[in-house]
Amino acid sequence: MKAAYYEGNKRFSIGESKVIPPGPGQARMEVAYAGVCGTDVHVFLGHMDHRLTPPQVVGHEAVGTIAEVGQGVTDLKPGDRVVLRPTDACGTCPSCKRGHINICPKLNFIGITSAGAFQGSWTVPAHLLHKLPDDVNMVHAALIEPLAVATHDVRYGQVTAGDFCVILGAGPIGMLEALVCREKGATVVVSEVNASRVKLARELGFDVVNPSETDLVKYVFDQTGGAGADVVFEVTGTQAGADMMTKLPRTGGRIVIVAIFADPMMVDLRAILWREYTVIGARNYVKEDYDEAIRLVVEGNLPLEKLVSDIRPVSRIQETFEEIVGGKADFMKVLIDSSAD
Ligand SMILES: [Zn+2]
Ligand SMILES: [Zn+2]
Repeated sequence: MKAAYYEGNKRFSIGESKVIPPGPGQARMEVAYAGVCGTDVHVFLGHMDHRLTPPQVVGHEAVGTIAEVGQGVTDLKPGDRVVLRPTDACGTCPSCKRGHINICPKLNFIGITSAGAFQGSWTVPAHLLHKLPDDVNMVHAALIEPLAVATHDVRYGQVTAGDFCVILGAGPIGMLEALVCREKGATVVVSEVNASRVKLARELGFDVVNPSETDLVKYVFDQTGGAGADVVFEVTGTQAGADMMTKLPRTGGRIVIVAIFADPMMVDLRAILWREYTVIGARNYVKEDYDEAIRLVVEGNLPLEKLVSDIRPVSRIQETFEEIVGGKADFMKVLIDSSAD
């Protein structure tokens, strides 16, 4: 089984996946698929070198099968299908004690601060594994981690049936939020400028507005009888998105900040005051968000395969990252098939 080692300086090398016997409280899984996340692209570009120890395997959106379990692990057995929740919180800091285990300042983000999933064999803390049904669609299940980001964001946005939601930015997370909002019975408008993402969102049946061609503010207020949106999700991470997010909500509406902004942005605080908006930051996920994402995957109503642009072996990881960074391909989500070579 192969492994892709991040060497630094935009380079992966391909080597053997080390089969590490699980210690107490650990389990070793054979990875089926691991999704390439925006975070992995940041790793590739060197933005996270301070948190890594190259040569290191990265990747955290993994689904696979249990190969062996360590001492004390009683709820999992070889052959079980599992998905990893890659955020290991300390459990003792003030954030954790208040239940914010998703944003523990000492968070071990597995796949960044420790070895990741772009390899065939992966030994991980067993308490972070969620068991899946034997007949689960493993390609769909490979999207559980980003889907759990979406279920977390939608839960924080308190979206309920009949709500009018606007998603600013239709990358993988925005698209998954749109699907989860629709599943909740909300009306969804997706705002996106990239032509291939506009096309995909339309294929998924969404009402899509390109704000560089259409007046999005007028559109949303027209669609809501002059009221505005109940919930706006900011997933662009741009100044244009930060400008737009305060123009769309109804009086007393909610804005959920999902994108990781690289720099401080200008935000219209007067609009937030004047119309009494609630602004909510939403990062990562907790166990219940995973449970909800798993429920949605098992239920099988979401067209998740449409978000998978390609499935490639570990040996093609270098070219895959180069294509993503170079913008050569219109990728939504690429899965690495960790068992393919
Ligand atoms: Zn991710
Ligand atoms: Zn903590």
